[in-house]
Amino acid sequence: MKIGHGVWLVGLITLAGLAGAAGAEEESSPTGYTDTPLLPGSNWRVHDDKRPRPVVVQPGSEPGKPPSDAVILFDGSSLAAWQTEKGSAPGWKVEHGYMEVVGGSGDLVTKQKFGDSQLHVEFRTPSPPTGHSQMRGNSGVFLSGLYEIQILDSYDNLTYADGQASAVYGQSPPLVNASRPPGQWQVYDIVYTSPRFAHGKVDSPGYVTVFHNGVVTQDHAQLLGATVHHALPRLVVHDVAGPVKLQDHGMPVRFRNIWIRPLTSAMISPSSSRE
Ligand code: MG
Repeated sequence: MKIGHGVWLVGLITLAGLAGAAGAEEESSPTGYTDTPLLPGSNWRVHDDKRPRPVVVQPGSEPGKPPSDAVILFDGSSLAAWQTEKGSAPGWKVEHGYMEVVGGSGDLVTKQKFGDSQLHVEFRTPSPPTGHSQMRGNSGVFLSGLYEIQILDSYDNLTYADGQASAVYGQSPPLVNASRPPGQWQVYDIVYTSPRFAHGKVDSPGYVTVFHNGVVTQDHAQLLGATVHHALPRLVVHDVAGPVKLQDHGMPVRFRNIWIRPLTSAMISPSSSRE
C-alpha cells in the first residue's frame, strides 16, 4: 500500500513538473512557423506561431458536469438564477436535487442574458405517463426566450413531427427520435447561434444544433422565427443576448444540472495555452 501510494504521488509530481517545463519552453522557443502561406480569409498563416492559443478550460469531473467556465443556472438546490417573466420569484418546486414545474405558476427565465452559447439541460418527464400527444410531459427550452426546443415524452407517444421532443417547435423535426422512457433523466446539449438583425430584418440567421442523449437531433438548423403555435414562425427583432426560458405547460416535468457557456471571440487569449 505504502509503496503503491508513494509511486502514485511521485507520478503526479513528475507530471506537474513536465507541464510547468513545457509551458516555460513554449514562451521562449517557437512551436510554429512564420514562413507558411496565409489561410484564405484570415490574417493567420498555416501553423502560425503568433496565432493566439485557445483559453484553457477545465472539463467537468465526468461527462455532463459543468466545465470550469460554465455559468451554473441550476445546481439542484437553488432557483437564484431564475425568475418569472414578470420578474417575480419562481413558483416551481425544488427538492431532492431537481426543480419541478408547478402548473400555472408560469414560465421561468434566467435573470442573466446570453447570446451565442452552449447550453446543457437535464430533464425528466413524469412517470407513469398521462395524456397523449402534446399533453404528455410537455415543457420546453427557449433560446433567447423565443426559440423553443421542445420537451415532450416522445418515447411511445405519437404527435406531429415538428412538435416531438428535440424539435424546434413548429419548424424543424428532430433528425431521429432519441428519447428515453418517461421517468428517466434525459439530456439536451444545445449550441445556439443568435440571429443578428439590421434595419428590422434578419442580417444573419440564427442556428441551433442539438444533441439529445448524445445523439444529434438538430444539425445547424436555421431558425425561421420565434416559436408560435398553429402559425408560421414569427419575426421578432431582438438583441443578441436574451434569457433562457423553461416552459410551464402545466405538467410536472423535472430539471437538474443546467449550465451554459457563452461563446465569444474573447475565448481566444494570447496569454493562455495548453500545448
Ligand atoms: Mg413545449
